[in-house]
Formats: sequence, C-alpha cells, structure tokens
Amino acid sequence: MRSQGSGMRSEEREQDWAGIFKNLEGWRKNILSLTLAEDPAITAVAAEHGKSPSKPWAVLLSTILSLRTKDDVTLAASLRLLSKAPGPAELLKLGIKETARLAYPVGFYRTKAQSLAKIATILLEKYDGQVPSNLDALLELPGVGRKTANLVLTEAFDMYGICVDIHVHRICNRAGWVETQSPEKTEMRLREILPKRYWKKINYLLVLYGQNLCRPISPFCSRCVISKHCKRLDVGRSR
Ligand code: SF4
Repeated sequence: MRSQGSGMRSEEREQDWAGIFKNLEGWRKNILSLTLAEDPAITAVAAEHGKSPSKPWAVLLSTILSLRTKDDVTLAASLRLLSKAPGPAELLKLGIKETARLAYPVGFYRTKAQSLAKIATILLEKYDGQVPSNLDALLELPGVGRKTANLVLTEAFDMYGICVDIHVHRICNRAGWVETQSPEKTEMRLREILPKRYWKKINYLLVLYGQNLCRPISPFCSRCVISKHCKRLDVGRSR
C-alpha cells in the first residue's frame, strides 16, 4: 500500500530531471573514485569494446549471462567466454558444453549456453553474423526480453532505449516518478515522461545507485543525493 499521496498522482507532477541526473552523475563520479564500486558489468563490457565491430555481440552475450547473476560474476564470465568466442561463429565452434563450462558459475549457465548457441545460429543464418540494431528483431531472439534488447540498443549501438531492470523499476516507483506494477510498464511510462537525453543514462546510474544506496531493503535515505526528488513511497525501514 502506498504510504503517501496527495490528490494528484505524484508521477503527474513535472520532475526536475536535470537536477536528478546532475546529482546522480556527481554521486557516481564520486563513488567510482573513492570506493571499489564499479559500473554495471554490461557497461564495463561495452566500454572495454569501445567502437569495435564485435561490441554488439559482446554486449548481447554479457546481457544474457547477467540475468539473475551478480555483476562481478557476470563480468568475469563474460570476459572468459568472449576471449574464446569473440563472435557467433566461434561460439558455435566451442559447442554448448564448453560454452557452459566457461560461463559457470553464472546462474542457469547450461540454459544460457543453449540460448547463446541458438542466438548464434540465427545471427549467422539471418543477419550475416551481426547483431541486429532493431528492437523487434532483437526481441525475436531466444532468451532476449525487453531489458536485454534495450540494453543492447543503448550500450552497443548508442541508440535510444530505456532499459528497466529491478533497480530502475524499484527506484522510479519509490521516488513517485512512475506508478507501475512491472518493469515493462515502468519502461513504457518512462518513454512518455523522461526526456530522451536521459534514456541511456537512467539504467547505469540507477543500477549503481540501487546496488549501493537505494537498496531493496533498508535504503540509505540519510545519505541520498536525490532525496528531495523522492516521495519514499512504500519505504519501510531506512538508514
Ligand atoms: S530517499 Fe531513500 S528511497 Fe528515495 S531514492 Fe533516496 S535512498 Fe531511495
């Protein structure tokens, strides 16, 4: 049940997006320089590949591996697998068993190895071995949902997309920027209310923020840099 409310739905008020993103970016810069915190694994993999033609494949592969897996495990497994399979053809040559071995210990590593093999086959058969830069085409690939497809578009192709994972969904609802029941609905609502220049940034900023500060249980509200923009809806215990 929502703990606060005042007539007009909070998401209907105009948000100071410039202020919110300025504070989040300042906080990110600070935490990355002062602590061992790191950007989300996919962002790190994308940065490692720069403008390389293999970047879309690297981002797609690491996004598949990241589902239900911690960031540090995802990053290590992605780099291990990409060193042997820099493209779909090499992944098929490795075979599912070896792909699974290299992906271990990511969650569901056997299932993900099978998905990657199916994806690699489709990419070679339909897209000349390239990852398509199109949301609908990405969504047709096995194991690829909206979160993965949006992340590939934003991180690999620098295109517009909003990748909403559990952190983005939780923080946007707590803050009262949206009022939605699922990450998919949060994505659709953000597409309506968030200026496009923030679409790509919202994922890596809020994932890092959700992992370190606006935690699922007992968030660090006393240290929050966006507290004046947050309604703290449904937040029970906080620090
Ligand atoms: S005030 Fe608390 S609930 Fe709101 S964004 Fe900050 S840490 Fe999260």
